[in-house]
Amino acid sequence: MLFKGLFPLVSIGRPMLKVVGKCFSLLWQIYLMVGPHYKLLEEFTSCVVSMTVDFGTEKSLPGIADLLPSFCLYIGVPLPKGCRKRTKTFPRAIVAPGWHHTWDGLVRRGLTSTEWFPVFLRQVKGVLSFFRHHLPEMEDELVRKGHRMVAQIFKSIELENFAKWRWNTLKKVVCELVKVYATFKVWYPTFEFVAGLRDASEAQLLKDTLASKSFVDQLKYTCWLTSWMGDIDKWGGGCPCCAPGENPDCRFKGRRLMEAFSHLECECNAAILEAESWGPSDFPGSPPDFVHSCVGQSAV
Ligand SMILES: [Zn+2]
Repeated sequence: MLFKGLFPLVSIGRPMLKVVGKCFSLLWQIYLMVGPHYKLLEEFTSCVVSMTVDFGTEKSLPGIADLLPSFCLYIGVPLPKGCRKRTKTFPRAIVAPGWHHTWDGLVRRGLTSTEWFPVFLRQVKGVLSFFRHHLPEMEDELVRKGHRMVAQIFKSIELENFAKWRWNTLKKVVCELVKVYATFKVWYPTFEFVAGLRDASEAQLLKDTLASKSFVDQLKYTCWLTSWMGDIDKWGGGCPCCAPGENPDCRFKGRRLMEAFSHLECECNAAILEAESWGPSDFPGSPPDFVHSCVGQSAV
């Protein structure tokens, strides 16, 4: 049986937010749908084959022991004669990660398995923090010195706040930074206000970042990887009938499982081909094994 629809809404109190409470709440929703009969509840829960979760408490639901008899006793549904506990409440169910979690997780895994990433991330945050705190001073100084066009370039970028951290935030940040980083590197030494900065560690981090030859390559690679996977992630939330951004209420949004395999095959093959065409000259500031490590990560 393929059930398409929403469960009845229930409100969960604070004491019910642990896994047993959530299991009871889910059983309550099922009970409201199928009716007050143990056999119907048993049949429904035995048919569940996967649970799509966001990796909160609910991720443990498929493995939880059989709470159905206790639930029935609690709400006054009689148990049939000879009723025996099953191994689990949902004996056939497995956890199925949601689409966005899957791609978010692949971006995280692809980047955190490279040894340069932790330092790179700290450096990105350093540059981002500088832009966030000093953009007005940068603009003032550039305009005062007659460099309005350069001021305009810095003003045009939209940097997401890392407080709203998800791996897709990284895509937005690095792909914006790629646009202005070369200009920033040229103009940073001309900023007079930098001499008066109080935070020495912040200034040193920025100085090290600007001096790093490999940072630009890492920025380029991270923008490429996060765009590739981020676009697939975004595709999954769309629908086959409307253009991106059009008709946000279309009822087919997110229902792309039937076309997902061919889309993924096409996108991933194209990305791997592109990565395999890279040579050391594409990443001139890094050691030659950087290219191999990137292609290796992409093939994962
Ligand atoms: Zn549509």
